[in-house]
Amino acid sequence: MIMAMMLIVFTASAKKGPKYVFYFIGDGMGVNQVMATQYYLSDVGGKLGYKPLLFAGFPYSGYVITHSANSYVTDSSAAGTALASGQKTDNNVLGMLPDKETPCKSIAEMAHDKGVRVAIGTTVCIDHATPGVFYAHQASRNNYHEIGIQLTESGFEFFGGADFHTPFTKDNSDEGNYIQAEKAGYTIARGYSDYKSKASGSNKMLLLEKNPNSDHYLSYAIDRKEGEMTLSEITAAAIDFMMKDPKKGFFMMMEGGKIDMACHGNDAATTIQETIDFDNAIKIAYDFYLKHKKETLIIVTADHETGAMGLSNGAYRLNSQVLQYQDMSEGEFSTYLEKKGREIGDILTWDEVQEELKQHFGFWDKVKLSDRQTDKLRSTYVETFGMGPGELKEEEYYKVDKMSDEATRIISEVAQISWGTGTHSGGYVPVFAIGAGAEQFTGQMDNTEIPMKIKKLAGY
Ligand SMILES: [Zn+2]
Repeated sequence: MIMAMMLIVFTASAKKGPKYVFYFIGDGMGVNQVMATQYYLSDVGGKLGYKPLLFAGFPYSGYVITHSANSYVTDSSAAGTALASGQKTDNNVLGMLPDKETPCKSIAEMAHDKGVRVAIGTTVCIDHATPGVFYAHQASRNNYHEIGIQLTESGFEFFGGADFHTPFTKDNSDEGNYIQAEKAGYTIARGYSDYKSKASGSNKMLLLEKNPNSDHYLSYAIDRKEGEMTLSEITAAAIDFMMKDPKKGFFMMMEGGKIDMACHGNDAATTIQETIDFDNAIKIAYDFYLKHKKETLIIVTADHETGAMGLSNGAYRLNSQVLQYQDMSEGEFSTYLEKKGREIGDILTWDEVQEELKQHFGFWDKVKLSDRQTDKLRSTYVETFGMGPGELKEEEYYKVDKMSDEATRIISEVAQISWGTGTHSGGYVPVFAIGAGAEQFTGQMDNTEIPMKIKKLAGY
């Protein structure tokens, strides 16, 4: 009897936590970004209801509080620091306490110290705030070049993203992030097929996009062209690379970094397509989980909500299906109009702009507009083009002409989606979990609790 009890105690204490940990962070993905996407997927099928995203159907879920050390409305570096290290810090500080001196050790660093293999991936630049908090410690998130240097010093086995944001200093005071990475033993691959040809001969991998856009981000899902890299490919590459040595286990953080950017622009269609794309990357992890159920934990959460996105603008209805007719992001449409103007060597006429709005937003054709909305587009046209090249409006991450900004505002209005701000909000974000230890992630929790739970479960 005593022997049997001892055996039970022994077995319980020897029970291992998850060997393979996936940590997915949807930047800016509040509860309404998830809900809008699920409603949209049902609405385009003509059915009132919701079509669950894979991750939203995970068996355990909860609500996460996101305030930072100095604000109810966090930014990505403070929220990321909390999600990576379990420490609150001030907005703009990356991987350090508010004193801007004391580094906060991330769970990725803790895992790596224990011999666990680590992968960090994102749809934005690899030295951006959310990936950065897992390997760098800087007084400001804007110290991109220094964050890039700390990336090369991390020793983590895999990084995947669009590119470095600031690979070289203005005065070329060092050899730059690419050479620093190569000196530190990283193989640089450009695009997924390049990854596949270089992976077997590489110990540490830095997977970047072939031709990242000028902002060093991957293209939005809604704008993506054949052959451009996706978060799903980065996730697949990371799993492949981690499993070169499965004994060691892995910790992997993958960020859907552009949900936030689409929400900063109050661009509903682009937000929804980014959220679907994020779910597609999680499906890759889920397939892995199905093969290693007892040893795998998948956590999906967000750093904060962006845009104060609302699912109504007052009429007791939502009409999100109209968003299917928008086939370019706001920023891409702005670039497209500018290019069109340069091609014809003249200012676009209202008729020409109307034709483009019909083609790329479905206006007046599949998407009915009120006279007021048409008048607003027409007066915005005059402001933007009528008096010569229009001024560009500065969004958080890119510049758009007023015409494109107004078109996305109006399609949100028709879809009955409202936006409270062009920045972040203090709303709840969700957390979803499946796999070994997933039952820990339920109820209301502070963002600092998530990494501490992972650390405890995985034994970092
Ligand atoms: Zn943001």
